[in-house]
Amino acid sequence: MRQREALVDGFGRIASDLRVSVTDRCNFRCRYCMPPEGLPWMPKNELLTYEEIQRITRVLVECGVRSLKITGGEPLVRRDVDVLVRLLRALGDDLDISITTNGYLLAEAARGLKDAGLDRATVSCDSLVRHRFKEMTLRDALDQVLEGLRVAARVGLTPIKINTVVIRGHNEDEAVEFAKLARATGYEVRFIEYMPLDAQEQWSRDGVVPSAEVLARIDATFPLEPDGDDQPEPSSSFRFVDGAPGRIGAIASVTEPFCATCNRLRLTADGQLKACLFSLEETDLRGPLRDGASDDDLAALAAACVASKWAGHRIGKKDFVKPARSMSMIGG
Ligand code: SAM
Ligand code: SF4
Repeated sequence: MRQREALVDGFGRIASDLRVSVTDRCNFRCRYCMPPEGLPWMPKNELLTYEEIQRITRVLVECGVRSLKITGGEPLVRRDVDVLVRLLRALGDDLDISITTNGYLLAEAARGLKDAGLDRATVSCDSLVRHRFKEMTLRDALDQVLEGLRVAARVGLTPIKINTVVIRGHNEDEAVEFAKLARATGYEVRFIEYMPLDAQEQWSRDGVVPSAEVLARIDATFPLEPDGDDQPEPSSSFRFVDGAPGRIGAIASVTEPFCATCNRLRLTADGQLKACLFSLEETDLRGPLRDGASDDDLAALAAACVASKWAGHRIGKKDFVKPARSMSMIGG
């Protein structure tokens, strides 16, 4: 594969982690993401085909991207995601390829995804209490998600991570229960601060539970220490002092932004490149691609997109402007 210049922004950060959204649709309606009635879905002909995703991704891999995350919307509601995994795996054995899913369809998909070359899975789960899970996602689906996790672990989509969005008054009291799950299974449970990316625009600072508070709750029961082998990831990772399996992660996007070391790039399902979740601009790759752009043209567009990346998001500042599209339309 040919080598191209790395994607470097004006602050010296290098984009090496690509999140690829395959759909804006979802079978859940998480209260912090999507309204109960859903959203106007993107027309199918505007979605990149798997071959188009592979081509853009190949160019970005030539530019130094090493980690690929398949996401959405809910990626597993799009048909044959294993076909995409196979196309992406063909771009390099050394690429880290993972999926972020709500887990509902994971039990049946896990084996095929693993066989296609997927390395690991991250599953979102906001509560271990059935009625609360339903209240957070508007789906009575906790059992299916837990089964999805078990099957994913069994087929080797490991290390398994759980993403838990913590919202004041809803689930912050479950931190220790999640820690028990991590200790019993070896999963890494990552607590995510609630961000103003919900389509309903109901976010308020009062709903944000600082990661430091969640970590303190766990530490009081199960003492934690920083995990020495922190990856260049937005989450800080902790292990249990008593040596129990499992990890605890904290993604403090609001109270302790990790923008200074952010290495992420996002490709939306309709082929727009975004250097930051919160950027107001999107770089159209689908139009040029379908109009016959060369690989060099695509690489130049990606380089310009990354070069324009801001120093950091403005959440909580007077001049904060929410991006036009919410989380499920961008790809989390
Ligand atoms: N549907 C899949 C899922 O839920 O895992 C993948 C897409 S989802 C948009 C990706 C991640 O974004 C999930 O872990 C979800 O919990 C998180 N997320 C969605 N809206 C959020 C918000 N307003 N603040 C923080 N995290 C959010
Ligand atoms: Fe769907 Fe994921 Fe958004 Fe929940 S967070 S509504 S599962 S896209």
